[in-house]
Amino acid sequence: MRFYDTLSRSVKDFTPLEPGRVTMYTCGPTVYRPVHIGNLRTFIAADLLRRALALEGLEVRQVLNITDVGHMTDDSQEQGGVDKMQLASEDEGLSPAEIAEKYTGAFMRDTAAVNVLPAAVYPKATEHVPDMISLTETLIRRGHAYEVAGMVYYDVDSFPGYGRMSHNTMDQLAAGHRIEGADPQKRHHYDFTLWRAAGSRRLMRWPSPWGDGYPGWHIECSTMSLRHLGERFDVHTGGADLLFPHHEDEIAQSEGAVGHEVVGHWSHAYHLLSEGRKMAKSAGNFYQLADLTERGADPLAFRYLVLQTRYREPTNFTWDALDAAERGLAKYRKQMAEWFGGDSPIRSATARPPSGGASLGAGVPVRSEAALALDRRFRQAVADDLNTPRALTVVAELAAADVEPAEKFQLLGSWDQFLGLDLARGVTTRDQLPPGASEKIEARERARASRDWASADRLRTELAAEGVEVIDTPGGTRWLVSR
Ligand SMILES: [Zn+2]
Repeated sequence: MRFYDTLSRSVKDFTPLEPGRVTMYTCGPTVYRPVHIGNLRTFIAADLLRRALALEGLEVRQVLNITDVGHMTDDSQEQGGVDKMQLASEDEGLSPAEIAEKYTGAFMRDTAAVNVLPAAVYPKATEHVPDMISLTETLIRRGHAYEVAGMVYYDVDSFPGYGRMSHNTMDQLAAGHRIEGADPQKRHHYDFTLWRAAGSRRLMRWPSPWGDGYPGWHIECSTMSLRHLGERFDVHTGGADLLFPHHEDEIAQSEGAVGHEVVGHWSHAYHLLSEGRKMAKSAGNFYQLADLTERGADPLAFRYLVLQTRYREPTNFTWDALDAAERGLAKYRKQMAEWFGGDSPIRSATARPPSGGASLGAGVPVRSEAALALDRRFRQAVADDLNTPRALTVVAELAAADVEPAEKFQLLGSWDQFLGLDLARGVTTRDQLPPGASEKIEARERARASRDWASADRLRTELAAEGVEVIDTPGGTRWLVSR
């Protein structure tokens, strides 16, 4: 397995610190509104990396933080230091804690809907404020931070490696910290805030050695990753928009505190364009998952759309592309139903269903030369810096390959452990059909045998109304259950 490491700017072989186990930190959402589909793309990318490592036989422990401390908006100076969380709470008539709970729930639902596997731990920023204070104290003690009137700043000049991640020169750095505004208290304009004094109107605040205040955003990820994964861990993921300043600052904080490198491999997913442009509310191309499902889209069609581009390239969301993805998914699910072969002996075998699909037989081992060759190519594509477009090419070739249907079913089911598209959704054994459906399928087979097309069509329509799509194949009737 090899994948791109942003810090060294190269595709690196991956070897976990501890054989067989991988520790992974993923920057999570700020929970004051639902995530948008661009955010979802980055969580799908982290999920694919996780599943790719699992495909290599590695056990992955993923930590994903929940940012429930409100941070400043660009114009919060003018609003008495009121943060995004508090603005949302004033808009919705809920407390900041209720806002955080509401949108953490929405995040869990949205990510589950696109088959992002749950993390092992979801640490919350609000539950780690004492840890953040003590990390800030460590940085002051080690000469990397200084306090001025209730504010604590990171002294960027004290950390020679600063800029390593983003390859920014010091002149470019100030722009990345623009939200902090011009602050005459800072030693240098590029220093960033670790602890901030709370403005008079601010609700979320904590006591600290420097007075009432709240932690900066970047210190949160240093604190929670060190706390939950230790001083050295394998992989850190996030969206490319977090590379600077967030991850640059995290490196300065974490390494400044422990005195050595912490993260083995940095992985960033590139952004999502929407209708060819940067997604923005003002441009009318800003979407959340609910905007897609309200139009009747399967959330997994969005996942399939994302898989069609490699994670390190911008992908473009369009409604046409989503429709095409939906049709592609439907085609693969129908193929799975055909290959499964409703009454074949595999139905009695038991095995783990492919990523949440129906409980199906998996008794047929993949052993033909052609199947093994396809399997090798699929796995090589995944292990080669998550080349999902190439992996999907192999999936497309499977249909025409000279491979037994039962083997095809097995193969695509096992690949779906990585793809996460629920390709076996709706595939059932005869016993798992809705009541009465099996009898109707048999009646329809008899009608067809006696060339009674009118009855056969009527039964097909009746079955469709019950959510059973009938598929006629040379080997007999197959079906796909949609509810
Ligand atoms: Zn982070």
